[in-house]
Amino acid sequence: MKDETLCLHAGYSPQNGEPRVVPIIQSTTYVYDNIEEVGEVFDDPTKSIIYSRFANPTVMAVEQKIAALEGGLAAMCTTSGQAAILIAILNLCKAGDSFISPIQIYGGATNLFAHTLKRLGIECIFVDCDADEDTLNKAFKPKTKAVFGESLSNPSLTVLDIEMYAKVAHAHNVPLIIDNTFATPVLCKPIDYGADIVVHSTSKYMDGHAVQVGGAIIDSGKFDWKNGNFPDMTDPDVTYHGISYTETYGNSAYIIKARMQLMRDYGVYPAAHSAFLLNVGLETLSIRMERYCQNAQKVAEYLNASDKIESVTYPGLTSDKYHVLAKKYLKGYSGVISCEIKGGRELAVQFINTLKLASIEVHVADIRTSVLHPASTTHRQLNAEQLFEAGISESLVRISVGLEHIDDILEDIHQALNSLS
Ligand code: PLP
Repeated sequence: MKDETLCLHAGYSPQNGEPRVVPIIQSTTYVYDNIEEVGEVFDDPTKSIIYSRFANPTVMAVEQKIAALEGGLAAMCTTSGQAAILIAILNLCKAGDSFISPIQIYGGATNLFAHTLKRLGIECIFVDCDADEDTLNKAFKPKTKAVFGESLSNPSLTVLDIEMYAKVAHAHNVPLIIDNTFATPVLCKPIDYGADIVVHSTSKYMDGHAVQVGGAIIDSGKFDWKNGNFPDMTDPDVTYHGISYTETYGNSAYIIKARMQLMRDYGVYPAAHSAFLLNVGLETLSIRMERYCQNAQKVAEYLNASDKIESVTYPGLTSDKYHVLAKKYLKGYSGVISCEIKGGRELAVQFINTLKLASIEVHVADIRTSVLHPASTTHRQLNAEQLFEAGISESLVRISVGLEHIDDILEDIHQALNSLS
């Protein structure tokens, strides 16, 4: 089925007399007729549900929808995008291991990789996202267990050459993990280009309405975990009755290990109510993405033509550095634009403060247009030199174009630009 249909129907097919909408099963626990049956579920938690720290019917319906949209085998939701990234990496790496990631990724992920995981003994080898095949190959160390990247990166809007990254990762017998948050499965399906694992912050476009923080991990089911590089997938897990994930669960080894071992121990499973809200957002994802792309393209072109603007970054512009890659990997260029206002920091701040319709928010992908000055907010701890290194100029403004009528969005930007002196 096509995305529009999957968004509405995947993961939940009500039977005669059952609720039309995915119901909220707000229950911590589940009952059984006898203790033997509970024991059986303990032996194999895929048989049923015992506790909402790692499985819940409402959340599982949404997991199936997200897996279907990404073309994956199975998915697991988490309490945030950060938790999804953390679990996705910890499912492969332990102290002494490393993984590779471009430096141009979401700042929260950079922190997690450069500092928190480092404290756990896991090294992130940072590369430039435009690294060529040779440079990527050379970045590998003997215990490198994964390659990570964002399909369309936040906030720099770089586009990853997913096929090339997958080719290199596979040549070293490790999986490629793609954070597909900004593109969403509607605009990009990383698994089709060789990605093995996909992660999401569902707090962004998937939700769209800014009503829940969440994440998801999707397993393509295609990676060969028996290649000798991943003993934790193949060898008996002493914490789970000595099972081997690959022997017992075959292609689902990765996602089942993530749930049975890591979700059990870290407990970052979303509440049913959050999953319900996410599902409502997902139902319209496909049609919303179409409009985000249309509106953002018009805003980017408008800004590009304005003499008050120094530069515009948006992969939908033919002049954009990533336009060619974006055309290959994306069905649309999503809704986030960054631009530099002529006149420096002061005018950038004045522009933002003068906008009337666009709200100032530390968020993107809201259905409402929002705007942010990274140098004063998300990156305010950086000095001018560090801002330069991070590719954030003092006059940079990030606009997340929403679904208001395009005339109203442009009129707002027009009046704010006109006020600049
Ligand atoms: N990945 C990307 C690309 C993001 O933009 C974000 C948040 O902005 C995250 C992950 C983290 O997601 P969350 O805020 O849901 O933890």
